[in-house]
Amino acid sequence: MKIYKFGGASVRTAEGVRNLCRIVSEEKEPIFIVISAMGKTTNALEEVLDHCIHGRSSDALNRASEIIAYHEQIINDLFGQAKKNENLNRTNAPIFHTDEQSHPHTERNATFLARPALETLYSRLSACITSIKPDDDFDRAYDMLVSFGELISTTIVSNFLEAQGIDNRWIDMRACLITDDRFREATVDLDASGIRLKTVTAGHPVHVFIGQGFIGGTLSGEPTTLGREGSDYTAAIVGNLLDAERVTIWKDVDGILNADPRRFDDAVLIPELTYLDAIELAYSGAQIIHPKTIKPLQNKNIPLYVRPFGDSSKPGSVIRNTISKAINVPVRILKSNQILITIRPKDFSFVLEERLADIFYVFHYHRVKINLIQSSAVSLSLSVDNSRLLGKAVEILRNDFRVAYNDHMELLTIRGYDANSYARYAKADGIFLVQRTRRTLRILRRSSPDESR
Ligand code: ASP
Ligand code: MG
Repeated sequence: MKIYKFGGASVRTAEGVRNLCRIVSEEKEPIFIVISAMGKTTNALEEVLDHCIHGRSSDALNRASEIIAYHEQIINDLFGQAKKNENLNRTNAPIFHTDEQSHPHTERNATFLARPALETLYSRLSACITSIKPDDDFDRAYDMLVSFGELISTTIVSNFLEAQGIDNRWIDMRACLITDDRFREATVDLDASGIRLKTVTAGHPVHVFIGQGFIGGTLSGEPTTLGREGSDYTAAIVGNLLDAERVTIWKDVDGILNADPRRFDDAVLIPELTYLDAIELAYSGAQIIHPKTIKPLQNKNIPLYVRPFGDSSKPGSVIRNTISKAINVPVRILKSNQILITIRPKDFSFVLEERLADIFYVFHYHRVKINLIQSSAVSLSLSVDNSRLLGKAVEILRNDFRVAYNDHMELLTIRGYDANSYARYAKADGIFLVQRTRRTLRILRRSSPDESR
């Protein structure tokens, strides 16, 4: 089995879906395809939720209509207007379900047979929107609502592949990836999920399976999500559970580069990386892969390929246990939207060390991600992601500590830095903190609109 993952950017347009179809049609071995929500749908659904929790239900429904219109446009491009209308007149829409019989992909046909399933999804989406009340548990409501993005995208893609003669089975990952109920950042139960995934794929006559990235479900059937950009993680877990021979992430870049080409003009491709390289890069904020992706693959020694979606003849990059040539260029990773927090005991006593566990617990509890830590006898400096509950965490800490706060910061990490990169980056203006080990240089600096810094 091979695992292919297509992110939102890859399925953003009808052309993207056709390209996916081309890539998949070249594959003769069994393949499991993991797909994200189309384009910026997840962001849009987050806006819908924001309207819901502020009690603006008609704004929420309007935004949802725009999301539906966007998907309908893609369907029109893929299947044509006439066919859509013809199908719209069908009645008795079956209930959307994992069960193959009720998922209308049994016939090969150029018309859009998933119309009833999709209409059911749309009406469940609006029912979900109207059910969310301002006092609801935010994280639980988030997962219920935002998971529709992936359910809709996979339904469309699955049906398009079917129409193109690629028999496939649509898998409901809410029922296959069993997670705990830490909503918005759920952890997958590998044992329980392995059994389910093997059951739905083993011995099945089709050799193409399509599942949603990013989403799972609790044992009691509530939808969960695995954290933003979590579809890579889904692909890695599916790879691990099905003992895949490889996992391939199809991206809108040539592979893994030594810097984000949108921010640095001298980026080059890194053809091979070890799992350790990759985990360090992802943790530092390289947006190329989700940080949780590596462990499930490393544990089973499964190589991860990152390949350009637009040109399947290019090899891209591979991440695996051993590589033939170590990375020989400094790798720069920029993590933006950082806040520098400096914490001191109120009475200037030297007790900070004894309180570290309490401080970190407050951040952990409020889901604040800490990206850099520096401590002295009386102060602790942290670079953290600017996140929703950060203000609450700071408020609690202020009961016991003096807490200073600098926003509009960015964290530049340079792995394998050399004298040139040190001179260029560590001596510039606007730097608040520099940390340096033998291999890695980390610089916290004021965010800059200057793209090429
Ligand atoms: N659609 C989700 C997101 O945008 C998951 C993903 O794209 O990986 O965060
Ligand atoms: Mg996405």
